[in-house]
Amino acid sequence: MAETLRGQDEALTLLRAALHTGHTGHAYLFHGPSGVGKTRAALEFARALLCDARRPDGSPCDTCESCRMVLELRHPDLELLVPLPSFSSEGRTERQAEEARAEARALIRARLVSDPYFLPIFAKPVAHSVEDLARAKQFLSMTACREGGAKVLIVKRAEAMTPPAAHAFLKILEEPQPNRVLVLGTRQVSGLLPTIQSRCLHLRFRPLSTEWIASVLAARGVAEPVARLAAATADGSLGKALQHFETPMDVPGKGPLDPAEFSRLRTAALDLLVDPKEAAVLGPLRKGRLDRDRSRFLAAVSLALHYYRDVLRFVLMGEKTELVNEDLRRRISVDARALTVDSLTRRVRDLEEIAEAVQTNVTIPYAVASAQYRMGVG
Ligand SMILES: [Zn+2]
Repeated sequence: MAETLRGQDEALTLLRAALHTGHTGHAYLFHGPSGVGKTRAALEFARALLCDARRPDGSPCDTCESCRMVLELRHPDLELLVPLPSFSSEGRTERQAEEARAEARALIRARLVSDPYFLPIFAKPVAHSVEDLARAKQFLSMTACREGGAKVLIVKRAEAMTPPAAHAFLKILEEPQPNRVLVLGTRQVSGLLPTIQSRCLHLRFRPLSTEWIASVLAARGVAEPVARLAAATADGSLGKALQHFETPMDVPGKGPLDPAEFSRLRTAALDLLVDPKEAAVLGPLRKGRLDRDRSRFLAAVSLALHYYRDVLRFVLMGEKTELVNEDLRRRISVDARALTVDSLTRRVRDLEEIAEAVQTNVTIPYAVASAQYRMGVG
């Protein structure tokens, strides 16, 4: 795996103790911010549970076939659930939507194998469907490869279960089978049914140090000042810092936008999210065709983010620095003199929150209005 698991000693100590004594629980709830290593820890735990030659202290041997298959996410006794958009709009048949989901699932698994801190970005809201839970239930009911061996189910972002999915999951929890271990990851315990919360052992995961996140980014070839900035605006989440360099996985035709369209979209982004002249939200949103289309709106947010990153780069590295928005150099230099690093980092964070909110359930006009309010407009 790319990075060792850092900064989660409390949770790891408890898991190691359970493995060492053999008293592992039936269901665990790993809670804490996204992108701090919950999935990474769950996979370590699964590796120990499924290892063919576990060491006396309970840790995995690192060399057996099972250990390898877990790391490659292809162990038959390991299932990983990731919430996905439904993919059911855009004129797809239900079968095509299912194919799109399967494709996204495979893509995310592949990314997670090389980078367990990877957090996928989608333009549309994501969920665990009741069908996903039915598949999980079937997985758990099958016999383990090794006689008497364990089967491990990991659920990422458990709070994203639809209500029927949550009830299906509760059924699984209420009828525990021997040697079945469930690990739920969540950023928000209160987003889960109280009956699910109370049936799990809770382990807390903590934000990571900004220095470590910056060093990981730098080791991946991100220029140092940018790595420091990305780390500083990630709230202790390596996953979030890495998201700075990702695009949504469900935006069709992700290739470069045509230049005229690109510049229209950027103008709309700057008018709304960088330099709004007045507290008008709906008009400019409609003009930029951003009021309904979440993926187009997220593209605009990302353009505004790039603009602010250019300003930050200008502040930190001086006027000779290369800019993403080279054609806006004059405007960027003006903003670089007018805005402090603090206010810039705050705006970057605000924009990331907007993107996050719009991906879940907040409407676009509301997200923009609240962002403008925080920028002091209106
Ligand atoms: Zn092993």
